Amino acid sequence: MFNIKKFILKSIFILTLLSLIHINLESKSESELNIYSGRKLHLIDPLIKEFEKDYKIKVNITTGKADEFIERLKLEKKNTKADILLTTDIARLSRAKKNNLFQKVNSEILKNNIPSKYTSKDFDWFGFSIRARPIIYSKERINKNELKNYENLADAKWNKKICMRSSNNVYNQSLISYMIINLGEKRTDLWIKNLIKNFARKPYGGDRDQIKAIASGQCDITVANTYYLANMLNSKNEKDRNAAKKVSLFWPNQNTFGTHINLSGAGIIKDSKNYDNAVLFLEFLSSQKAQEIYTKKINEYSIRKDVEPSKIVFKFGKFKSDDKQLHEIGKEIEKAIYLSSKNGWK
Ligand code: FE
Repeated sequence: MFNIKKFILKSIFILTLLSLIHINLESKSESELNIYSGRKLHLIDPLIKEFEKDYKIKVNITTGKADEFIERLKLEKKNTKADILLTTDIARLSRAKKNNLFQKVNSEILKNNIPSKYTSKDFDWFGFSIRARPIIYSKERINKNELKNYENLADAKWNKKICMRSSNNVYNQSLISYMIINLGEKRTDLWIKNLIKNFARKPYGGDRDQIKAIASGQCDITVANTYYLANMLNSKNEKDRNAAKKVSLFWPNQNTFGTHINLSGAGIIKDSKNYDNAVLFLEFLSSQKAQEIYTKKINEYSIRKDVEPSKIVFKFGKFKSDDKQLHEIGKEIEKAIYLSSKNGWK
């Protein structure tokens, strides 16, 4: 028999359920943020967790290779789910910009927190941490008074003493680009030609591997990012710690244009569906709180003057960096890639 009471109760139950689902979906679409990250999850996880806690916005993160994300975004166009591309290196940020993937951001907070030398001129990408790429050398076998600058690494006296990673790597491409900006194309061409003659072995591995190669005696000198050395010195792995203790850091070009630095950064995707949340996230990354995470947990340098480096990075000492023409690095990348392949830097 038809029970009217049961029917009404059932209807109320279903309607309540549907409205709950609706609220949930609505709030979900209002409070989420989708990030494509070229940075590894364990590095940015502490930042994401703080942001989610403070802003009650759910962050969905997809990690992978930055260049692949750039290709993917080019294909996805308006259908993309991504709101933000987070990556390392100005060369990659410039590449994304060149492909028209970013949009201009209007934010007084970003303007106030990030010095203009660390953002794109069009305000469509922003640097959130600084990494320096100095010379690293064997404490045992190298007298630091003989080191001067990057140019000097091409001197014949360093024959078979240098380890470098591949020039396919964006960090070295940006370094070469920086050399082109400061020395011109001709001198950089000759620099690469002679530098390669000093390689102790074929380019192999990442920055950490170059430091380990010095520790094991394969070579005496390399160029690597500071946070790799800091993270190795801090590592739970005893082998890594011991390898890092065998090397020291030298700030090149202090009397000329300064040591090469680079940025990690991000931009908001042109077709972002969560623009307001994306702006909030970028603003959060530029905050003192987030910058403390960049320095203390990742061992990078802050873009803010009021945030000190970590204890271990502080010990590397102060240095003069070449921060005047960071915007130009992306422009010379094609030339940098051409010169390294022309000279056979694999
Ligand atoms: Fe790195």
